[in-house]
Amino acid sequence: MSRIITLGNELLKNQSEIVTEFDKKIGEYTENMFGLLVRYNGIGLASVQIGDLIQVFVVSIPKDKPRVFINPEIIETSLEQDVYEEGCLSIPGINADVTRPSYVKIQAWNTRGRPFTLQAEGLLARVIQHEFDHLKGCLFIDRLHPDKKERLLNLYNKKNQKGK
Ligand SMILES: [Zn+2]
Repeated sequence: MSRIITLGNELLKNQSEIVTEFDKKIGEYTENMFGLLVRYNGIGLASVQIGDLIQVFVVSIPKDKPRVFINPEIIETSLEQDVYEEGCLSIPGINADVTRPSYVKIQAWNTRGRPFTLQAEGLLARVIQHEFDHLKGCLFIDRLHPDKKERLLNLYNKKNQKGK
C-alpha cells in the first residue's frame, strides 16, 4: 500500500496531469486510495498525496457512497460561503477554519471513462473543493491569511521536531 506524503515534499506544490487511459488499472488504483482513507481515517484523498501527479481524487464521507473524480473541473460555485474547520492527511495535526463557497457543481470522469456532473453542498462540497485544490498544487493553508499560515507552519514544524 502506498504512503501518504506530507508537507515539505515539493510534489504537493505541483499541478497534476490529465488522465488519458481508462483501463482496469485505474479502478484498482482508486480502490487502493479508498483503502488508504479507511486506514488513515480520512474523508478525501488526491493522487498527488501518494506521489502521483495525475488528476484523480476520491471522497468518502459519512452517509454517502464512495466517489471517484477524474480530470475534474468545477463549473459553478455559489456566492454564498461557509466557514468550516479543515485538516489534511498531508498536514497531520494541523486544523484551521477555511472559507469556501457552500455549493459547487463539478464535472468529472468516472473510472470507466464516462463523464458526469454533480451538484454538491455541505460537507461534500467542502471536501470536493479541498481535493480539487490538491490537483492545482494548493493546500488548505495556502487559502489562509499569510500570518495565520505562518503560525500554523511554525506549529507544524515544532510538532514534527518533537516526534524525531
Ligand atoms: Zn488535503
